[in-house]
Amino acid sequence: MSSDLVIVYHRQPYEEVEEDGQTVFRENKSPNGIVPTLKSFFGRVSHGSWIAWKQTETPETPEFDRKVEISDDYGNYTVSRLPLAPDQVREFYHVTSKEAFWPILHGFKERFNYDPVEWENFRDVNRRFAEAASEEAAEGAVVWIHDYNLWLVPGFLRAMRPDVKIAFFHHTPFPSADIFNMLPWRKEIIGSLLACDEVGFHIPRYAANFVSVARSLFDVDTPKRHAVPEAWISEGTALTERVLPSTITHDGRDVTVTVTPLGVDAAYIDAQARAPATQARAAEIRAEMGETRLLLSVGRTDYTKGGVQQLESFERVLEARADLRGKVQLMHVSVSANRNMAAYEEIQNEIEQVAGRINGRFGSLDWHPLVLVSRAIPFTDLVAYYRAADVAWITPLADGMNLVCKEFIASRIDGDGVLVLSEFAGAAVELEDAIITNPFSHKSMDLRIQEALDMDSAERKARMAGLRASVLGNTVQDWKPQILAALDKPVFDSAA
Ligand code: UDP
Repeated sequence: MSSDLVIVYHRQPYEEVEEDGQTVFRENKSPNGIVPTLKSFFGRVSHGSWIAWKQTETPETPEFDRKVEISDDYGNYTVSRLPLAPDQVREFYHVTSKEAFWPILHGFKERFNYDPVEWENFRDVNRRFAEAASEEAAEGAVVWIHDYNLWLVPGFLRAMRPDVKIAFFHHTPFPSADIFNMLPWRKEIIGSLLACDEVGFHIPRYAANFVSVARSLFDVDTPKRHAVPEAWISEGTALTERVLPSTITHDGRDVTVTVTPLGVDAAYIDAQARAPATQARAAEIRAEMGETRLLLSVGRTDYTKGGVQQLESFERVLEARADLRGKVQLMHVSVSANRNMAAYEEIQNEIEQVAGRINGRFGSLDWHPLVLVSRAIPFTDLVAYYRAADVAWITPLADGMNLVCKEFIASRIDGDGVLVLSEFAGAAVELEDAIITNPFSHKSMDLRIQEALDMDSAERKARMAGLRASVLGNTVQDWKPQILAALDKPVFDSAA
């Protein structure tokens, strides 16, 4: 009971490796991304804790190193590791989270597979996360829980610790009631979220959906509303997303609903983009390309990312536009993060098939229309590709935020380059100067990418200036105070 801030995130905040028989804790490979962002909050409190799971063959043994004390650039914090047996990990993470929740969150009803879910196990793992958080939290502490794997933690924790402030942030989309309510456990999940002080989302649409789901299941009031910022409103913004409930009241308690789109570490990316090694690498990539223009697509291999649909569009465009053959190359980075899961292997195979077909149909001795990369590219190299690309083509079918498109923009210190972005990436709400495309429409996909390729330099630069103003104006550093600002939290007042 000693931490002012307890972060509950299912992954550990470092890489744990064995070196010469010793366990060594290493900084995660990517200095960008959610883990370092969350860790940076520990610098603002006297002591913090992080709760994660760790797989072990022998969860019950006393030898298991349950707690690790870390002292690094981010501050001093305890990492409390929940020992989970391989079966529990499979059931909690691969089955319940990835087969049942993930498709529903992203609107893929047909992929929803709930028969194998063992709800008792999921509940039990969440209860244990709540116990670990309760053990770490000081009186009145803030407990900040992340993502759908841990949906039941707030409910358990509230019963154990009425004194703590509970915030929950969703990094994924949140669907409308007709999709969310397909989850047989909907009432338990939403009941748990209503035990929070704050529930946060990236964009207004997800928050609006959450409120409508809560209304469909519980007797809730929405006494306070607020208008969403003008900058987030476009032609396609539904009326229900323009004015949002900022508080919902249930059982005599207020739950604040916040919308805080996550940004990127623009200063860090800027420094990477200006580094001589990056400049040299970008120049080398350009030199290798010659006059050929580079289209870049980067994402995880996941059906939500729309990789197959994008490759098929590329094929149609090459078919229709003989003048582009030999003149463009698509580098399609699709990183397989979930090996051994059928749904992901299936997508990987489809991507490989379409990619092979495109190169087979259109390629020649000196021109490969498509370069498929399946392994992760280290972030510093990625920045060189962002700098070298003519067009970033980012077309997920559904994506909570999508940081790749923001990283691309932050890398473009030359003020050039075109972003073609799916309207179903959360980032599209903020990035109105992108060329917005609908990945479910062949016509929209094919026309928008051609528009990007045909765009003149003046328009490219004008659009990039707008995109940069947006990304540099809402960085990851801006995210911090906003997301916790709604909480009454004396621990932060003196430490800020
Ligand atoms: N990324 C990377 N190397 C790669 C591909 C991706 O470092 O080869 C990083 C990328 O820079 C970004 C993150 O992975 O920070 C992907 O985040 P995003 O929000 O776009 O998608 P998610 O995978 O979280 O759905």
